[in-house]
Amino acid sequence: MRGAVLYAPGDVRVEERADPEIIEPTDAVIRLTATCVCGSDLWPWRGVDEVRDQPMGHEYVGVVEQVGDEVKNIKVGDFVVGSFFASDNTCEICQAGYQSRCVHAELMNNIGTQAQRARVPLADGTLVATPGMPEPDLIPSFLAASDVLGTGWFAAVAAEAGPGKTVAVVGDGAVGLLGVLAAKQLGAERIVVFSRHRDRQELAVEFGATDIITERGDEGVAKLKELTGGLGAHSVIEAVGTQESMMQAIRSTRPGGHVGYVGVSHGVELPGEELFFSGVHLHGGPAPVRRFLPELMRLIWDRKINPGKVFDLELPLEEAAEGYRAMDERRAIKVLLRP
Ligand SMILES: [Zn+2]
Repeated sequence: MRGAVLYAPGDVRVEERADPEIIEPTDAVIRLTATCVCGSDLWPWRGVDEVRDQPMGHEYVGVVEQVGDEVKNIKVGDFVVGSFFASDNTCEICQAGYQSRCVHAELMNNIGTQAQRARVPLADGTLVATPGMPEPDLIPSFLAASDVLGTGWFAAVAAEAGPGKTVAVVGDGAVGLLGVLAAKQLGAERIVVFSRHRDRQELAVEFGATDIITERGDEGVAKLKELTGGLGAHSVIEAVGTQESMMQAIRSTRPGGHVGYVGVSHGVELPGEELFFSGVHLHGGPAPVRRFLPELMRLIWDRKINPGKVFDLELPLEEAAEGYRAMDERRAIKVLLRP
């Protein structure tokens, strides 16, 4: 089969990879309908994370081709969505809603879903099937549910977005934008997005943003305080993962408020004394997307939400390298790849 492999910073190639096989009796093999490039794929692509000739990709939707002997709920022919962490969905951590930290969690990055086919471990726990084959125009939205929608949704839940709340969103990538959509669905009263890009501002407004702040860092915080009577937001979504974005999120939050942080942390160090006196709640980490998949897939199937709009560039899998470049240069918000 064909699949993307990263050899060195900036050097991603689509080449022949071994066809996946059932290894454990709890595995499934799927044929991918669509996959995509994640903002987090850019960390190794830029050389910020170590690169070691690795298969790439962790977002996926597709049709089940094979299941192991112990798979009971997922059947050959099902259209399925899964998260970037395979999980059993039965251990105590999963049952508490933290499937991304399942005691048997397996990172799909190590399998590499920017490919024509993929092995999915713990298929019964990991995968959720649609009621039937989705209409083609719904595919991008189901693909978004695999990571960016589920991650944005978790960030909004972790930040306790809800009725009467002012929610601020740091980061205008796909996760931040879908954090806006989630905050809107959860009933937030006011949603403020920090963004300097016209196309992203427009999509944010379409998803439910009420205010845009173009300043960032402490200037952005000052603007947000102006909008909120000097108090800051009740709920702040952090969707970048840098020192600047994390401090912007904490400083944008009013005392007693909540930060939901989902940007993969890179070199973030929190000053203890400032954190102490901020009086904010911090909750986040790798999103337990699996917790939200049934609800999000229902909203997509019923056409209540359209998160697939974050894909503003679609390429054949063979042109994955151009997809990485387009996202790195911010020519695209998120790139869908057709295997
Ligand atoms: Zn588990």
